[in-house]
Order: sequence, then structure tokens, then C-alpha cells
Amino acid sequence: TNVDIGAPTIFDKIIAKEIPSSIVYEDDKVLAFRDISPQAPIHILVIPKSRDGLTQLGRAEQRHEEILGHLLYAAKIVAEKEGIVDGFRVVINSGPTACQSVYHLHLHVLGGRQMKWPPG
Ligand code: 5GP
Repeated sequence: TNVDIGAPTIFDKIIAKEIPSSIVYEDDKVLAFRDISPQAPIHILVIPKSRDGLTQLGRAEQRHEEILGHLLYAAKIVAEKEGIVDGFRVVINSGPTACQSVYHLHLHVLGGRQMKWPPG
């Protein structure tokens, strides 16, 4: 399926700036932009600029370790920039059972309201 070959997704167009997004942080390896359908007052997606086969966390390989760490640290930088560093949530949906919809690995950074647990 598309999911397993790592076909291009809408996020490639966002990275290429072919479609607009509200970018909140960017470096050479990652891009962070506001989710188009926010589930909290602050809802930002952090993605690797190069997918390198990293469609979902459940397909990660050892070569992805460095970018995975970089993404997580970028999530913290984003939280700091957005003023939510003292309370925020990071979510990765991996696979259909977890409701992943875009098969280009991404971290959701959510905050600005009281979160509930369990998420359901
Ligand atoms: P997933 O469901 O795969 O974990 O998350 C995908 C996220 O991407 C969803 O929260 C969805 O709202 C967001 N999204 C999908 N298409 C676009 C888009 O074109 N622009 C932006 N900014 N977010 C998008």
C-alpha cells in the first residue's frame, strides 16, 4: 500500500512551501507548523523535512534514532516558544488503529487548555 512504500504526502508540499502553512519553528532537519484542525488552543505539528522512509513511528528503524531525538527536542523548543513549556502534550499516532491519517511521521504538540487522561 501507499502507507508502506512511503509515498509523498501533503506534508511534502508544506515542506516545499507549495501549500501555505503557519510555521512556528524550522531548522535544517525539522519543520513545525500549526495544525489546520486544532484540537487545543495550541496545536502544532513537528515533522522531519526528510521522511527517509519514516512514515510512522511503528516503522522506525535504528537509522532514525537521531531524527527521532531531534523531533522530540524540537517539540520542547516549540512548547517554549508558544509559552506552554510548563504543561503540554506530545502525541504520535502510529497506524490506522491509532487514527494516523498522514503517513509522514509527525509529533502533535498540544496545549493551552487542561488535558484529559486517558485520551480515548
Ligand atoms: P494524524 O491524524 O495523522 O496523527 O495527524 C495528521 C494531522 O495533520 C491532523 O491533525 C490534520 O488536521 C493535520 N493536517 C492534515 N492536512 C493538513 C494541512 O494541509 N495543513 C495543516 N497545517 N495540517 C494538516
